[in-house]
Amino acid sequence: MLCSVRILLLHTGGTLMMRTSGSTPLKPARYTRDLVGELPMLNKIADIDTEILLQLDSSDMQPENWIDIARAVHEHIADYDGIVLVHGTDTMAYTASALAFLLPDIARPVVMTGSQRPLDRIRSDARTNLVDAFQIATRPIPEVSIVFASKLFRGCRATKRDAWGLDAFASPNCPPLAQLGVGIELADHILAPRDRAAFDPRIEARVLAVRLFPGLDPSLLLGALDRDVRGIVIKAFGAGNVPTIERSLIPVIQSATEKDVPVVVVSQCLHAHVDLKAYAGGSEAMKAGAIGGGDMTDEAALTKLMITLGRATAGSHVQAAQKAFATAPVGEMS
Ligand code: ASP
Repeated sequence: MLCSVRILLLHTGGTLMMRTSGSTPLKPARYTRDLVGELPMLNKIADIDTEILLQLDSSDMQPENWIDIARAVHEHIADYDGIVLVHGTDTMAYTASALAFLLPDIARPVVMTGSQRPLDRIRSDARTNLVDAFQIATRPIPEVSIVFASKLFRGCRATKRDAWGLDAFASPNCPPLAQLGVGIELADHILAPRDRAAFDPRIEARVLAVRLFPGLDPSLLLGALDRDVRGIVIKAFGAGNVPTIERSLIPVIQSATEKDVPVVVVSQCLHAHVDLKAYAGGSEAMKAGAIGGGDMTDEAALTKLMITLGRATAGSHVQAAQKAFATAPVGEMS
């Protein structure tokens, strides 16, 4: 059947296309199957072209891979109504966030999906997730999104919350962009289409994310500064608080800022927004130079910092990060 809608399927790996073989651990198989041939109903949604970009378990995904994926999307998106990106679930939220910041200018949907069980299993979630992804790719949703378990999330607000359950993703601080049931209900906070800009592949991967815990030795972070770390994301307590008495983190934040290494603070609580003025632990961090990450996921904060630093070739990196984290051009923060 010929449809007037055209979708590009970009394959990067993940469980969805892995093959089950006895009790052998799952690993990416060569893409030998015709996914569209196995799910012919996809042809009722659109004419589909397929490109195999990568065949990785997503735990092997690297920032360089994000750039390759973003470049492919940028090159092809004008030729299709939408793009479906099959990806492993483990780091899907990182790739989705990186793509959102690398491609802030898209006018068409880029829908990521994967599955918790391979397509070749009888009780697999791959079929539903794929059908949902292809349907969403035909809708006016010009965002990098993740569709999973009948919900569509803004990619840079999503996080993997369940390693085994089918409802694997959450978007703790931003409601879903759509609910997929008998019909598809779109929410009204979907971004408007943006004008296409030139593709900028610059990224700085020498960034560290640290989850704070009582007892964290600040000298470990000072050591990282000596090893040329370029940016730090601290997953702080509650509203963005850090220790200020024993093992205080304030001197580290001060020293990083003096070395022009931005320190971004997000919360380790799933439902939270950082308010560095709420407690002394946050306000001292702010005085030392810490930059609040609002209610961003740590995946979004980390990838945004990497991309901001990659692009900040001249001038102060701290100022570039302050400026970048003061706005949310792709809806990454409330
Ligand atoms: N380890 C797999 C991956 O991220 C898990 C999955 O796809 O669900 O590639």
